[in-house]
Amino acid sequence: MTAPNLTAAPSDVVWAAYTAAVGIPEHAEPADRVAGCARCGHATTVMIPVGQVISRRFTGFESWTNLAGRRLCQVCVWVYRRRPLRVDAHVVTRDPATIRAASPALLHQVLSTPINADTAVIVPLRPGRKHLLPDASWGQVTVDDAGLTWAAADADRLTVMRRLRGHGFTEMMLRQDTPAYPVLSRLPAEQWPQLLDDWHSLGVWRQAGPWFEVGLRASRR
Ligand SMILES: [Zn+2]
Repeated sequence: MTAPNLTAAPSDVVWAAYTAAVGIPEHAEPADRVAGCARCGHATTVMIPVGQVISRRFTGFESWTNLAGRRLCQVCVWVYRRRPLRVDAHVVTRDPATIRAASPALLHQVLSTPINADTAVIVPLRPGRKHLLPDASWGQVTVDDAGLTWAAADADRLTVMRRLRGHGFTEMMLRQDTPAYPVLSRLPAEQWPQLLDDWHSLGVWRQAGPWFEVGLRASRR
């Protein structure tokens, strides 16, 4: 058996998540590419054939780094088999390694500033449909089929969205180009200019589907 080689352990999001949730994996240097994990290229003392882990309908091969491999390491087996990872939003950090299931409150906390380079946020927009954690990158929000940057302007829009929800606008209403009159008419007229400014400032997000959807999830109460 090869001794665990911790210094060379990969620093991708999946390995950090596994380390935080399960423990430090027994990392081994594969003898050749065929012996390495098909997804991450590394090896652990336990390796499982790809066909026993993913279904025949699996389509996420774009992020696999070692298509010569025929097996998956215990870290990658874990990421594909643990159903909550596919269903719930998560926040992963690498130093120290942590993984947290993300409630709207936690999502809001993390996304109220630009994402730093040691954090990855995973938000399944259609929970359970796809494995998102294997495609996650540091400093990004990973949603179905895309990795999103999250800049200061996005953090600001999230604040605006939360403020508008506080006035009573529903998610359906927020999708419209103009504020719904029944809600608007209940608010003091002196608040209208600010509110219309707020509404207008979400226009960029309305044109950019995934950011808007992440904002909705991070502004739920
Ligand atoms: Zn692997």
